[in-house]
Amino acid sequence: MPVDANEIILRGISGSPGICIGKAYLVDREGVDVIEKYKINPESVRKETDRFKTAVTKARNELEDTIKNVPEELRHHAAILETHLLLHKDKMFYGKAIDLIKTEHINAEWALKETTAQAKAMFNDIPDPYLKSRAADIEHVSERIMRNLVGRKAVNIAGIDKRVILVAHNLSPAQTSQIQLEKVMGFITDRGGRASHTAIIARTLEIPAVLGLDNATSIIKNDAIIIVDGAAGIVIINPEEETLIRYDELAKKYALRKADILRTSAQPAKSADGQAFSIMGNIELPEEVVAVKDHGGDGIGLYRTEFLYMNRDTFPDEQELFLQYKEVAELMYPQPVTIRTLDVNGDKAILGMETPDEVNPALGLRAIRFCLQKPGIFKTQLRAILRAAAFGNVRLLLPMISGCEEIRETIQLIDQVANSLRKDQLPHNRDIKIGIMIEVPSAAVIADQLADLVDFFSIGTNDLVQYTLAIDRGNRQVAYLYNTLHPAVIRMIKFVVDAGKKKHIKTFMCGEMASEVISLPILMGIGIDALSMAPQSIPSIKNMIRKISVSESRLFLKEVLKQTSAACTMRLIEDTYGKMLKNGV
Ligand code: PEP
Ligand code: MG
Repeated sequence: MPVDANEIILRGISGSPGICIGKAYLVDREGVDVIEKYKINPESVRKETDRFKTAVTKARNELEDTIKNVPEELRHHAAILETHLLLHKDKMFYGKAIDLIKTEHINAEWALKETTAQAKAMFNDIPDPYLKSRAADIEHVSERIMRNLVGRKAVNIAGIDKRVILVAHNLSPAQTSQIQLEKVMGFITDRGGRASHTAIIARTLEIPAVLGLDNATSIIKNDAIIIVDGAAGIVIINPEEETLIRYDELAKKYALRKADILRTSAQPAKSADGQAFSIMGNIELPEEVVAVKDHGGDGIGLYRTEFLYMNRDTFPDEQELFLQYKEVAELMYPQPVTIRTLDVNGDKAILGMETPDEVNPALGLRAIRFCLQKPGIFKTQLRAILRAAAFGNVRLLLPMISGCEEIRETIQLIDQVANSLRKDQLPHNRDIKIGIMIEVPSAAVIADQLADLVDFFSIGTNDLVQYTLAIDRGNRQVAYLYNTLHPAVIRMIKFVVDAGKKKHIKTFMCGEMASEVISLPILMGIGIDALSMAPQSIPSIKNMIRKISVSESRLFLKEVLKQTSAACTMRLIEDTYGKMLKNGV
């Protein structure tokens, strides 16, 4: 610990529980390890300037494409992008970086970093507030070039070779999924909210994470000692001796309590009045099956398949997908494996693929919309799923359904795929159960119509809350409004479950709400059929189910439905179930 250090406490948003203490490892704003300066041979100068020029050209092309695609109603905003375009050609910027490479024989990344810093300083010195604020444009342009310059290094989280805590401005789900558990103890970010995919992955990996810290990357220095308290959403920089001792104790207690609950995880989840619930695990990669089994999961309720498409340049082919799905299906058999088809875009862009430049990606070409527009990619995945279904208890789940048409179109594709598999004489199973995610309000509202077309529903509260309350799930500015206990959310869930029951289909929940012990009495009262969550949450949810009676939870729900705010509902939960909840991890 540095001797001159003063303890600093930062407060953010809880991303994933747990406590870790260790050295900070800064991931630069551009998403790469802190940019390093190195000398190049005089004979490599030409190559280095070419590398820089190529990165600038790529950045310029990207920007030109963006400008071309700006919708008519936003044309006036395109002016700012035109300014960026000019900056790419600016002598002070472009020319200077090339000069630096030539005269100082330094790498292109460092030359860009230097030039950016100088240009920003120049703008900052200008008294005119408008011109001053143009420093931000320089930064945007520089970031775009830097991303092109470092290429795939941008996601080289996997290359970290010491035991550290990551400190990043933002981590994409693709980067987070590269974390090596034996190296990264936890992570903290300036951006992000609890329901972001980055937080979800942290919970699956069972590493502590605090998000939405705002300025952690500018306060924390590389190698500084930090404590991350994931549940409390607190980060302590340069902790004093006493603080270190206290947190060491807390970490031990947390581990003991977790181990205690884990011991009972194999027992069935039967309510106090004898109703059995199926409690399953969410996975992103086949390796996580072990965690679901170890934590007592009754199957896989959500297999987020998009992660197999990330961090690579080419799409996986049918055989690769088939082998992965088959492995999961066989490992879990006879328990079910619910394979969700590709849910890309939104906050999960795929590297190596042209991503649509969208003003609002969460409302854009995401999930089923993307798949139906790219039938080639979709059919490859559907073929792999139907083939794997011949080797286990596989169900198919469609993300982001907003109307009946999307289901009908998909079923047509499934039929086509089954026909072609028959012709190819490949073993497959067309009688697979087909379900849909209910995560868009329109789907919830017409749940009775959708129920006629599918075998089951799975409520995705992460998106359902985002779209119902109009709150970006990854935006820390509005994270305080993101609440699964909002009366509109509870009513919507009840509406869907009731519609399912009328049509005799089951409703599961696989959004993060399923893992919140505080919500459990409400979900049991509503009559949810099964819950699926990050494997680490399974034992505490099972434990809590055993303590709650369904008949009491139904009466409790009547009171909940009278509440007019999330805060009132929270108080009611605390008054009724407070003691029980205190013992949950
Ligand atoms: C959800 O939206 O609740 C969900 C489970 O899907 P994802 O988090 O992958 O968007
Ligand atoms: Mg979703």
